[in-house]
Amino acid sequence: MRQKLPDTDSVVRDGHEVESCEFHGLELEKDSVEIVYGLLPFDEEKMEACRNFPHANTWVGGGCLISSDNPERVEVLYCRACRAAEEEWEAARRALQAVELPLRDESEWVN
Ligand SMILES: [Zn+2]
Repeated sequence: MRQKLPDTDSVVRDGHEVESCEFHGLELEKDSVEIVYGLLPFDEEKMEACRNFPHANTWVGGGCLISSDNPERVEVLYCRACRAAEEEWEAARRALQAVELPLRDESEWVN
């Protein structure tokens, strides 16, 4: 099964048709989300989990849609149920990490 980032197909572009979530059957809704530039906060575990919420679209990777004026936000289509599933998954993972390995401070990554 091909893996893909969950965002690129659902970015709202001209002529984009409203779709529904193949997982939950809900019509996708528009939202404005943050564009994340540079290193994406993605790992294999998350890639795997994203199959269960393909239209969460809580953020978008800037690498795939950078234009001349690096915008900070972009309109995407998302599924409410996918976002709820992602939140649940993130919460579960955070709880697990808190037990197994303390999270490193993100500021350490920058330098
Ligand atoms: Zn969904």
